[in-house]
Amino acid sequence: MARNQSQPEAEREEVLECVQQNCPHCNKRMRNKYDNYRTVRTLAGVIRLRLKIRRCYNGECERFGYVLRPEAEGKWALPQHEFGLDVMALAGALRYGEHRSVPEIHHQLQGRGICVSQRSVSHLLERYEELLALCISNKRRLQEIVGGNKQVILAIDGMQPDVGHEVLWVIRECLSGEILLARTLLSARSEDLAVLLREVKEAIGVPIAGVISDGQQSIRKAVEVALPEVPHGLCHFHYLREAAKVIYAADRHAKKELKKQVRGVRAIERSVTNNDDPVSKTVQGYCLAVRSALTDDGRPPLEASGLKLRSQLTLIEQSLERVAQKGD
Ligand SMILES: [Zn+2]
Repeated sequence: MARNQSQPEAEREEVLECVQQNCPHCNKRMRNKYDNYRTVRTLAGVIRLRLKIRRCYNGECERFGYVLRPEAEGKWALPQHEFGLDVMALAGALRYGEHRSVPEIHHQLQGRGICVSQRSVSHLLERYEELLALCISNKRRLQEIVGGNKQVILAIDGMQPDVGHEVLWVIRECLSGEILLARTLLSARSEDLAVLLREVKEAIGVPIAGVISDGQQSIRKAVEVALPEVPHGLCHFHYLREAAKVIYAADRHAKKELKKQVRGVRAIERSVTNNDDPVSKTVQGYCLAVRSALTDDGRPPLEASGLKLRSQLTLIEQSLERVAQKGD
């Protein structure tokens, strides 16, 4: 049964940045080259990914023009895929954990709000099987992934579709975007993860320059144990999201308090609405400035609405003081 709807609209956007900001070959800072967009259907809705692609502009670099995609991209979906890895993990758990048929899985996914055809469910299950069949000891495949790179950056993510399901663990190589190893484990114990990381370390043959994850406790411990010398970075997305919760709450409160102070603007505006003289015109202009500052929201976490309102009101206040000083 083919899908008869078109690609669904994205419900929100996620901006992904490269954690690694220096060229892995010459170690000079890479600049943003362009943004790349992808739409992925996940269990949390349809997400538009905005990928900040970086490029090495150092003319002396042996890999001049080298392009890096954000490391976190691979956590969302496989390359060229429109369905999220979490959807694939759920389909796989239903098929192999609960022995559901394709029509049943199709029904369940639709019930979770995912726009998917039965044929896509079959494809998802095929990809899931391929993923788990990836063999870390296949030397030729490893050579293709590592290519001429002198080092690799690993990312590790665990996907547990629902409580009680097995966790699908995926270890990726970030410079190539390829998946090195995928396993399902009943647990998220650090001992089990350390085994996976050691397996990758032994097979890969080049130094590991860093590990990137969402910083889950068991992953941190596993990296410490299996790769003690390797720096462990967190995805910007995850720590920004965590930090943003506190900042967002404080900023929202600040904005509410500021708004109280300029409530009188409506009454002033009404009193001069129908007047045409220069003074009334000026007052109308200031009222308009205050009102547009009130509705001009920043996008958290990088632009705080409360702080933005404060700086705009300060500018208006300073302007009013200058007018008062002039005296006319
Ligand atoms: Zn370079």
